[in-house]
Formats: sequence, structure tokens, C-alpha cells
Amino acid sequence: MSSKDWIEKDYYAMLGVQKSASSDEIKKVYRKLARESHPDHNPGDPKAEERFKAVSEAYAVLGDEAKRREYDEMRSLFGSGAFRRGARGAGQPGGGAPFDVSDLFGGAAGGGDTRFGGGGFTDLFSTIFSGGGGAGGPARARGPARGRDVEAEVALDFDDAVRGVTLPLSLRAPGVCDTCHGNGAKPGTQPKACPVCHGAGVTNRNQGSFSFSEPCRSCQGVGTVVEEKCPECQGTGGVTKTRTLNVRFPAGVADGQRIRLAGRGEPGERGGPAGDLFVQVKVRPDELFGRTGDDLTLTVPITFAEAVLGTDLRVPTFDGAVTLRVPPGTPSGRVLRARGKGVVRRDGQAGDLLVTLDVVVPATVSEEARSALESFAAQTPPAAREHLDARVRRVG
Ligand SMILES: [Zn+2]
Ligand SMILES: [Zn+2]
Repeated sequence: MSSKDWIEKDYYAMLGVQKSASSDEIKKVYRKLARESHPDHNPGDPKAEERFKAVSEAYAVLGDEAKRREYDEMRSLFGSGAFRRGARGAGQPGGGAPFDVSDLFGGAAGGGDTRFGGGGFTDLFSTIFSGGGGAGGPARARGPARGRDVEAEVALDFDDAVRGVTLPLSLRAPGVCDTCHGNGAKPGTQPKACPVCHGAGVTNRNQGSFSFSEPCRSCQGVGTVVEEKCPECQGTGGVTKTRTLNVRFPAGVADGQRIRLAGRGEPGERGGPAGDLFVQVKVRPDELFGRTGDDLTLTVPITFAEAVLGTDLRVPTFDGAVTLRVPPGTPSGRVLRARGKGVVRRDGQAGDLLVTLDVVVPATVSEEARSALESFAAQTPPAAREHLDARVRRVG
């Protein structure tokens, strides 16, 4: 709330209307002035913006019949400017220094005017300002707001992804300023109630016969403004901080997976809860193994003779070795499965190791091997290519 503004400011003069102006007249004048000074029509013109704010401020009070009555009442009680003079006389030169209403009453009561004596003022003020909050309107002052979610990306070694790992993660993200604890005010000062909305965070705007509540433009709906800015954060209440978090990546975390750390994102505003941290996982490839879900994959070269005759293969697993039986007559590309030799999750669930057999063809062979192959070929029926040969004959 800002009783100071109500005492000091002449909203009628700010709109250029008589104190006796009708509400229709005030509305008409306000709309004209607001249109002329609207920031959208005067981009980059700070004077117009000031004018727009002043006009909005005045109309937020005079455009609301209940508020206008309270304002009139207060002005007639205190007299325009009487209090301001009193306050300056009481040792606050310059006028810009903040003072609060209770100080004002002390000084005024000492001044001997019976209207200001006694305990009635507190009552008067609480009446005035409890009514000023725009009760029941659709727009509300901005309350606690949840902090934003933060996205980060982490590259893991293949082994770490399979086994699980805890890594320190450095995050540069907006955080609450330690100097002002987020309120944006210079240490030793406090944010003041917004003079436009009197701390409500919303203003009323009349359009035709409708009245809208909208977030206050002056304070962006916060309800307070900072007069002396915190030097650390320039009044924003936030600074960019580097945080280090230890993030636990569970065994079996996969490439492309997003891990959510609840409450580890940006801090909330005005007491709201923090956002979440989402860590996008990239897994670096391994030189031997691949991965499909919880299965590990491995390609093993075998000779033509091994494929034809069959053999026992000793192949590596992720953390050991296993013997696989290759039956006689195994075609190239056949996949053998070693059960339970894949990724072992924390809950004990395990994938398999999938071994793909790759029959390799030697680029050169010895004389003996060549003659052995030639006699092998002579005793082997040709490959089944009749269906292809038929097609070749048809096209010429
Ligand atoms: Zn600060
Ligand atoms: Zn405001």
C-alpha cells in the first residue's frame, strides 16, 4: 500500500479534470490520454511512458468509485500536501526519502490538530487499504511462482552408462542474488509498495461498460518497486550462478535419455517451489560393444570353415568372457545370444549379449588353400540362383 502517494499526489490534476468530474467524464479523459501516451504508440519515448504510467496510476484510483471515495476522503482529511510538509519538517529533507505512515501519524499527532489525534488513524488506514485490493476481480497479484526448468546435457563414457556413475555437474543458471536475497533492493533498504497499484499487483481498466483487472504495468504485477537497486544484481534480484550438483546416473542409463531431478532447476520466485533439472544423456560409443536397450551387441568375425564346420567361440562380455557354440552350417549374419550378459540394471534385470557372426572372406589364399577350395567347389552344388537367372534371361 502507498498512503504516501495518496496524500501527495493530485490524481485529478494528473488527469486534468475537476474534482467534481463525473465518472463518465473521467473515463473519457483517461481513455484519450492513455491512447495518446500508450507505449505501443510511442515506442522508445520514455516521456510518453512516464505519462502513461501517471495516467494509469491516477485512473486506477479515480476510475474505481470506491477507491475514489476513499481518496477524496483522505485528501479532505489530510489536506493536500499538509502531511508532506509535516514530514519534511520532521527531519526528512529532500522529500525523496522514504517514510512510513506510522511516523507520519506520530508527527502529526504532536502537531496538535485534533483530527489527527487518538487511535483512529490506524483504523482509518486499515479500512482504506483493505478495500484497495481489487477483491473478486479476475486478475490477481502475482503470487509465488515456480522456478523454471533447466535443461543440461552430459556425455557419459559407455562403461559409466552401463554400470551407473555419479558425476559432478556444473550448471550456469540464474539464481537468487545473495546480496539482496532476491528482492532487488540495496542492502539496508526495502522494496516499496508499487505507487500505481498500491501493492495490489493489479490495476482496473474500464472499457465501455466493462471493467477489467489486469496485472499492473508499473510493477509487472509484483506489487512492489525498488527505489535503490541492489548493486550486485542491478535490482533484478537474480544473478547468474555456477552450481555444482552431484548427479547420480543409474546403471543402464541410455543414450538420449532424459533424467529428471525434481527441484534442482531454477529457484522459485516469491517463495514458489524450484523448477526441475532435466539432464539429457549422451553416451560415448565403445570400441567393442554396442547397445540396444539393455542388450549389448558385439560383432565377431569367423572364417568360412568355422561357419561350415561349426566351432566354440570364446568372446568377451562387458565384464568377463563367455564361450558360445557355433553350430555347423551357421550362415553369416546369424545372431547368437548370451543370456544375462547385457546391461544389469539396479533392480537386477539384465539384458543379453547379442553376438553377430560375420563370415570374413580372405583377400588372398595360399596355393594349398586354393587347390583345396577348388576341389571343394567341384563337389558343391551351385548356389540357388535360378530365380535370378530367369529374370536375367527375360530382360535380355
Ligand atoms: Zn541483488
Ligand atoms: Zn503495481
